[in-house]
Amino acid sequence: MNIALIAHDRKKKDMVNFSLAYKHIFAKHTIFATGTTGKKIQEATGLEIHRFLSGPLGGDQQIGSKIASDEMDLVIFMRDPLTAQPHEPDILALLRLCDVHGIPLATNVATAEILIKGLERGDMQWRNVFKK
Ligand code: PGA
Repeated sequence: MNIALIAHDRKKKDMVNFSLAYKHIFAKHTIFATGTTGKKIQEATGLEIHRFLSGPLGGDQQIGSKIASDEMDLVIFMRDPLTAQPHEPDILALLRLCDVHGIPLATNVATAEILIKGLERGDMQWRNVFKK
């Protein structure tokens, strides 16, 4: 499975802690991330991460492109809803693409945990429903 990880600045610590907790699951999949998020996860976990540009420079759109071409299976986007983001249109576009293509998306730690546990159990029917 291809998994995308993105975290806004105030959520990066949560993302790093989440990645440490579920490192054993992430290690079995291919992990993509926006620039800074990926760097922090890589440093903390030692996992191999395919890093895109930083979010404000287009990283969200690069992940969106993979979703549009059906090359992403799960997205964890830890958003900070309390801080204005310069690339808000890109973020909304990415969320929209997940809904268009039926890609499971978590925007907070609680949902991320449920998705990752589902992934661990092999509950992958969600992809078959939407796969053309
Ligand atoms: P970053 O980008 O991981 O490069 O900080 C995330 C974002 O702000 O969308």
